[in-house]
Amino acid sequence: MSRLAQNYNSVKDRIAKASAHSQTDRIQVQLLAVSKTRPSEDIRKINQLGQQDFGENYLQEALEKITALTKLPIRWHFIGPIQSNKTRQIAENFDWVHTVDRAKIAQRLNDQRPDHLAPISLCIQINLDNESTKSGIVADKAFELASLISALPKLRLRGLMFIPAPQSDYKQQLQTCQKAKTIFDTLKKQYPELDTLSLGMSSDLEAAIEAGSNMVRIGSDIFGERNYST
Ligand SMILES: *Cc1c(COP(=O)(O)O)cnc(C)c1O
Repeated sequence: MSRLAQNYNSVKDRIAKASAHSQTDRIQVQLLAVSKTRPSEDIRKINQLGQQDFGENYLQEALEKITALTKLPIRWHFIGPIQSNKTRQIAENFDWVHTVDRAKIAQRLNDQRPDHLAPISLCIQINLDNESTKSGIVADKAFELASLISALPKLRLRGLMFIPAPQSDYKQQLQTCQKAKTIFDTLKKQYPELDTLSLGMSSDLEAAIEAGSNMVRIGSDIFGERNYST
């Protein structure tokens, strides 16, 4: 078995084990394979193992891969920061966007989503700890943004996305992830159709799933350490 296939299987295994322990054990945890900086060939190999959801952060790089892999059954998720002059290409080429954090971006994605495509699936990105990342909105403002998004016909609000500051201690990871889950549950009371808590990366996927995440975004533990110089 190739190294990629071994990595992929071991991540699937970790997800299955973590789900068995979590309160959400009857909810399927989705795996989003984060392929930023990785060649199309690696995506093709993981896709052949049955993986259909891939996440990309950098638009130009993503568009090259989407073009190269256009015949494959892949759902593309945009998970990078969004500049407003990039929304058209995102609206035209992606199935999901996880990083919506302001009304202007939501409105442009709606207006620029081509009519022949289904509504684009969106998560609102919440900033839990303000300093570690500049993207995301504070939780209090998510409600207003959710109300705007749910009124737009070419957008489908799916849930919330979080990038917690890196922590190595499991208990701390779990506490942070539980905060995220509480915010998600509060919003879901108003919008019962929400079905996605996008939370958890290579180093905290177990804590995220224990807290109730149902979509983990895994890059390095599948594809290996990223090398930005190549
Ligand atoms: C890179 C990235 C990931 C994957 O991170 P790993 O630690 O490599 O698993 C997940 N989410 C976002 C938003 C990312 O940018």
